[in-house]
Amino acid sequence: MQNIYDITIVGGGPAGLYSSFYSGLRGMKTKIIEFQPKLGGKVQIYPEKMIWDVGGMRPTLGQDFVKELVQQGLTFDPTVCLNTKVEYIEKIDGLFVITTNSGMKHVSKAVILANGGGIISPIKLDIQGAEKFEMTNLHYTVQHLERFSGKHILISGGGNAAIDWAVELLEVAASVKVIYRKEQLSAHEAQVQAFIKGGGQIFLNASIQSLVANNERTCIKEVVIETGYEKVTIAVDDVLINHGYNRESSFEFAADLQPKLKDDYYYVGTGRGKLSVDGLFAAGDIISYEGKINLLVGAFQDAVNAVNSVKKYLEPSAYEHAMVSSHNDVFKERNKELLQEKLVKML
Ligand SMILES: Cc1cc2nc3c(=O)[nH]c(=O)nc-3n(C[C@H](O)[C@H](O)[C@H](O)COP(=O)(O)OP(=O)(O)OC[C@H]3O[C@@H](n4cnc5c(N)ncnc54)[C@H](O)[C@@H]3O)c2cc1C
Repeated sequence: MQNIYDITIVGGGPAGLYSSFYSGLRGMKTKIIEFQPKLGGKVQIYPEKMIWDVGGMRPTLGQDFVKELVQQGLTFDPTVCLNTKVEYIEKIDGLFVITTNSGMKHVSKAVILANGGGIISPIKLDIQGAEKFEMTNLHYTVQHLERFSGKHILISGGGNAAIDWAVELLEVAASVKVIYRKEQLSAHEAQVQAFIKGGGQIFLNASIQSLVANNERTCIKEVVIETGYEKVTIAVDDVLINHGYNRESSFEFAADLQPKLKDDYYYVGTGRGKLSVDGLFAAGDIISYEGKINLLVGAFQDAVNAVNSVKKYLEPSAYEHAMVSSHNDVFKERNKELLQEKLVKML
């Protein structure tokens, strides 16, 4: 007999994780299914960026924010399936059956779709054999700025993310060069000026033609770039690529379950997380309604609304909302432990 969940959440980003927390708070048996090997969603692509606009939270690095978010999302011990891609959702005998890439079927009374921007992966450098350097000095994201301390860095890409990296890396690196295939960088002018003033070097109309490996063939020691009229060889310690992201749109529904879409991607819903199909709810960047806020705070509000809607869907006599956390008995024991820890720290 399949294990039946009250809520299965598709996507372990901010909306999915907060839905998981809130679903636990409302006493529902919860499962999260996430394609990536880690929880955190899109925030994983900006780990070194400072987040300022979450109420009551001091400016916090993306990577630190994710840690807190994951911990909170796991408060009530949901089942978590990582490296698992949802491929198909159907309804059999009144229950949702979610088929994943391994062929496994997950059964749930309701589903919260929190698949946000879909499955995001960086567009890879289109040079044969480049992937073998991903273990050493070819990067698609900046995880830790200190990793690049004192290094000579080449960045390929001219958008906001590439130039933001370039400006930040100038602070720690020995040198930073940017190459971009177009005539003009597309990043914000102020950041481009900051890069130039900070001593960064830019090659326009240029692209990477080949990578030269060290003798052991373990890492890139030089990059040959083509500028239209000449080839230039640049010695490097690290190469960063920001050519944008591929977005794989998510999964399919049985014909009678397809929710109404906006722009062929977003689910048209209500502020309460309801979609055009009974039992399917949504939260976060994936849902569209009048007044939707595509920010972390918006994802959290959506999560609360979607979970409350699921609760009412499963138990029509349930309260509309959970008891506020500050007065909620669910946390009684944990509060004692936390206060005890605080006291110990003060001593
Ligand atoms: C560069 C950048 C900077 C940002 N900065 C800020 C900021 O400073 N402040 C702020 O408030 N917001 C910011 N945002 C917006 C914020 O990150 C998003 O609003 C938030 O991540 C939305 O969360 P989500 O859970 O709805 O979607 P996502 O974060 O996109 O998470 C969706 C998850 O679903 C998973 N998924 C998708 N399809 C499947 C599938 N088929 N099977 C299994 N899993 C699946 C994905 O792998 C992903 O983990 C920023 C966004 C970007 C891109």
